[in-house]
Amino acid sequence: MENHTETTVDRRRRVILFPLPYQGHINPMLQLANLLYSKGFSITILHTNYNKPKTSNYPHFTFRFILDNDPHDERYSNLPLHGMGALSRVILFNQYGADQLRHQLEQELSAKDEPSVSCLITDALWHFTQSVADSLSLPRLVLRTSSLFCFLIYASIPLLDDRGYLSLSDNTTPFLDGLGYHDLSDNKRLEEQVEEFPMLKVKDIVKMGFKREKDGVGGVVDNMVKQTKASSGIIWNSFKELEESELETIRRDIPAPSFPIPFAKHFTASSSSLLEHDRSFFPWLDQQPPKSVVYVSFGSVAQVEEKHFMEMVHGLVDSKQLFLWVVRPGFVSGSTWLEPLPDGFLSEKGRIVKWAPQQEVLGHEAIGAFWTHCGWNSTLESVCEGVPMICSPFWGDQPLDARYVSDVWKVGVYLENGWRRQEITSAIRRVMTDEEMRERASVLKQKLDGSLMKGGSSYESVESLVAYVSSF
Ligand code: UDP
Repeated sequence: MENHTETTVDRRRRVILFPLPYQGHINPMLQLANLLYSKGFSITILHTNYNKPKTSNYPHFTFRFILDNDPHDERYSNLPLHGMGALSRVILFNQYGADQLRHQLEQELSAKDEPSVSCLITDALWHFTQSVADSLSLPRLVLRTSSLFCFLIYASIPLLDDRGYLSLSDNTTPFLDGLGYHDLSDNKRLEEQVEEFPMLKVKDIVKMGFKREKDGVGGVVDNMVKQTKASSGIIWNSFKELEESELETIRRDIPAPSFPIPFAKHFTASSSSLLEHDRSFFPWLDQQPPKSVVYVSFGSVAQVEEKHFMEMVHGLVDSKQLFLWVVRPGFVSGSTWLEPLPDGFLSEKGRIVKWAPQQEVLGHEAIGAFWTHCGWNSTLESVCEGVPMICSPFWGDQPLDARYVSDVWKVGVYLENGWRRQEITSAIRRVMTDEEMRERASVLKQKLDGSLMKGGSSYESVESLVAYVSSF
């Protein structure tokens, strides 16, 4: 991690940041906030009460809670917590949030005893914030918490729909619950290459699970693309060497400046964790040989059915590898935690915890592979530590990330047929033993490390972002 010395700490300028209230979005936004603070800015965070981060970990920031202050507002009660349904909050707040946000920003802008506001930085999925910022003549930058290639693919959804790809998902809804890959494999068209994005198969598009629609998740994605293009600047959690041609395309097509910054290399995400980290396994992990343990985690939202969980259990056992497995309470649908686990499963071979300090685990020398759902933070954190991956994506950007990991960067294996124990076992064995794959992962990590040195692309990105934010 970089050492940030605070040089110009007069804090006369303030940046207001507004993350989406989910772990995978809160982490990079608060890492960005820490980075800007370390460069001398004063920080105000706008947040929902839902999923509020531990404010005591950020005594140097000011927090304001907005959008869901009324506990009796029935629009926001009883919304789903897991799977794609968790996004319903985003749909609703985007519809109803403008007045509250405008009111809050007016107060911030007129506050006499606070540093003057330089700009607003919101999650790109808060698309409603662009018109609010425009109405106050406040520059709005976005933080896009996913990859650049994902943005380009999301921006092409109308085109992909015209090709008929999105409607192929009509008979395959079960995969939204964590599988359906078996249902998909019957259709030959799904294995075809996507003409506009030759690195993708049609099924990668289908697995995103989107529809072209005005409302719903498809509508949020469509508006996200439009309002990102309309913003004053785009901050990406990525680095140039990872997505060079995508960065060129975006810089050519979008006038607003782009700043790719790999946040995990600047600040750890552990202080913004919504769940308590279990650290009890570290003495066990410390005793394991280098690169001998598979780390297994599927992020903060994904959920599987019990029968698929059992395939995972058998796949892991049959691989005969050591493992550290994060099973969140609620990960197995219909269970509170580990009820379906067979007796005797946990031997000296493995440990299961509810939540772990993931970056620290990935950086531990005993970790040899990461079996992941390919959420973008997890993917990038693995790249940061040079750990090869086994990919089991669920929906959204995850199937796209998995394809890049396996077919573009070639630092992992994509389990593209879903949860089948034999395939799980052989993928784990392959990733644990493939020295060439490990070498490629290590080269990628070296490129990333190089980009952070003075004069490197990520270093320059931070410098130009700071100059840009200071210029407003
Ligand atoms: N994470 C963690 N502990 C865990 C599992 C995940 O701290 O046991 C963190 C992980 O480091 C990452 C975030 O949670 O920063 C998950 O984000 P990601 O984009 O990978 O997936 P999402 O949760 O959004 O599906």
